[in-house]
Amino acid sequence: MKIIKQILFLTAIFSVGFLSACWSADGNRTNRTGSSPTSTTTTTSSATPGGSKTPANSSDSTKVNNTPKNETKSGGFQGNLPSGFQMPTDSVGQKMLREYGAMFVAKGVTPPGKVVFNNESEVSAFQSGTQKTSENIGGVTIELQTAAMNALKEAVNEAKGKNLSITPRNADSAKRSYQQTVDNWKSRVDPGLVFWVGKGRITQADANRIKALSATEQIPEIFKLEEQGIFFAQGNQKTIIYSVAPPGTSQHISMLALDVAQFENPAVRQVLANHGWFQTVPSDLPHFTYLGVSENELTNLGLKKVIESGRPFWVPNL
Ligand SMILES: [Zn+2]
Repeated sequence: MKIIKQILFLTAIFSVGFLSACWSADGNRTNRTGSSPTSTTTTTSSATPGGSKTPANSSDSTKVNNTPKNETKSGGFQGNLPSGFQMPTDSVGQKMLREYGAMFVAKGVTPPGKVVFNNESEVSAFQSGTQKTSENIGGVTIELQTAAMNALKEAVNEAKGKNLSITPRNADSAKRSYQQTVDNWKSRVDPGLVFWVGKGRITQADANRIKALSATEQIPEIFKLEEQGIFFAQGNQKTIIYSVAPPGTSQHISMLALDVAQFENPAVRQVLANHGWFQTVPSDLPHFTYLGVSENELTNLGLKKVIESGRPFWVPNL
């Protein structure tokens, strides 16, 4: 009897040990990725909560301690997602969260509550539920969420004082509709299919089948082909997601993104960063995302820094 009890006891201990090992393996993974970026930024951990300068103006270019630190939450990237956010369970959604997800932890604005919008009515319902503003910036009328627009105007002013300018690349550099993301997607997918049929890597029948699918249905099909090296970015050497966003996933839909004409100028990139505008999609060099905090807060949002083409990109630390 006693032996049986001991066996039961040991089994229980073993199960608990096993479970906690799995848990901590998972936890370690999160922690490991969570701690790595801390090394890329320097001063964050020593930022004292008592460092209370006057809160407010993000326009103030002094960098440390003047951002609303109370807005960032512990728990890394997932802990900073908006409440009610629909975590994607499918592979397309998970991939897009990893690739484009920085905007979901932006502060002082309304990020989308899910990763992929499925149609125009979902997009317009989201867009009309945000606080947004239209402005003429450098001769181009653009629309952004109001906090993003205000920060942009402050950046434009700071740039002016330094004899620099910050202007949109073209008319669709900020807000986009669902249909615009479909059109952009098709502008790569359709010629890509022709290209790969010509190379004998896809049959005409397969190309026709993919072309006939809805934009949303095409996304996993294109990703599947790209896993085999059949790429759809311009030039067909790189993944399409560094060229155009899959339908319904563009950060431009969120009105938190801007394609900037002067993106090659490091001084311009610095001014934008001073006002909460950062780069978050590696390889998409003209593309900036409003995150609403200063650079030393970005790791607290659960983002990590990746250097590409000599510039920092902030991506979800997942
Ligand atoms: Zn863009």
